[in-house]
Amino acid sequence: MNPSIRSALTRRAVLAAGVAAVPLLAGRPASAAGTFPDPGPNVPTQATLGYADMIRELRRIERSSRFGVEVTTLRELGITPGVSEAGRDLYVATVGTGAKHVWLQGRIHGNEPYGVDTLLTLLSTVGSSGAAGYRAIREALTLHVIPMYNPDGTELNIRHTVLQDGTERRIDLNRDWAPTAFAAKESVSWYTYWTRVKPAFGLDIHHQGLKTDADGDAVTMSLGISLAPSGPTLPTVLGGLYDRQTRQAQGLVYTSLQRYGFVSVDRYSVGSYEIDILGGVSSAVMVGLNWNGLNPTGHSHPMVFFETSGNTSAGSVGQKARGKAIRQNVIGASELLQGLATGSVWNTDRMIWHEQIPHVDYTGYFSDNNVVITPWPTRPPL
Ligand SMILES: [Zn+2]
Repeated sequence: MNPSIRSALTRRAVLAAGVAAVPLLAGRPASAAGTFPDPGPNVPTQATLGYADMIRELRRIERSSRFGVEVTTLRELGITPGVSEAGRDLYVATVGTGAKHVWLQGRIHGNEPYGVDTLLTLLSTVGSSGAAGYRAIREALTLHVIPMYNPDGTELNIRHTVLQDGTERRIDLNRDWAPTAFAAKESVSWYTYWTRVKPAFGLDIHHQGLKTDADGDAVTMSLGISLAPSGPTLPTVLGGLYDRQTRQAQGLVYTSLQRYGFVSVDRYSVGSYEIDILGGVSSAVMVGLNWNGLNPTGHSHPMVFFETSGNTSAGSVGQKARGKAIRQNVIGASELLQGLATGSVWNTDRMIWHEQIPHVDYTGYFSDNNVVITPWPTRPPL
């Protein structure tokens, strides 16, 4: 990590967003054995932020930021319906004045809490840090920070949102950006906003429950690309541009996090499968989905995701692991944003994805509607 970014994170923003400061462990090889606290048996509901907490923190950051953070709701922007199924306002904050717009979203799955904390910390830091790395981010980029994509699921502590049309059907919002989907108001609202913003890049923050490597040590974070590189879909998009760029982005994140001894990173998997799922947000933006005629130019961009260890199932995430779980996300996202601001991310070796980031021995691709596609890989790396 850039030293100026590191010191700014330590002194200001990590504390500002209520995240416990963690001693820096830079300069050591990554080994998570014994360094990532056991979650313990209890769900730390006191330690997760609810909808009202998020609004309060956003308003506080907006008031106190030195460099202009603006908080708004989709209804205030005139977007219809602009609210969740249960009628909650959908909040987004912007910071920066750059020509490139970056989409940062968290908690699309309501039982995956720390995207909120991560993005509030990031927003606070970018909004106030005088460090050169953050100034570069503000000057080159405009960030659109969505800490809580799914407020209804958050308040219910479930993955989905619940339709209020009398069916009470549960909708996975990360399968609802597909040509025949858009069942939920959240999807229509956020998609409409996305077509206005026309981002250049996107990052989505999730949780995956507890995961261990072949030695039984904790994997604290997995890096994901929702349409697998070298897979059935992504190499065919824009001549493979996003196949290369998503790997470069994750290669930069992986390399940056190697300096932190408490972090252990691998590639995201579902069992022995790599995912290639079209209906999620991060896939729709890469294929330039034009739903309801709202994206007639077929705007598209690369987007990647982080999977944080633990979720709010009992025994899966704990108070003790919280600080480190959030901190690894903040470091990874900060480094990625700086790489996007300077353009250095596009110098990253895309083969880091294949040759350095640990992964299981894949046997196929896990696709929409639980379909498995083989063989793996579909083709050699581009
Ligand atoms: Zn998720």
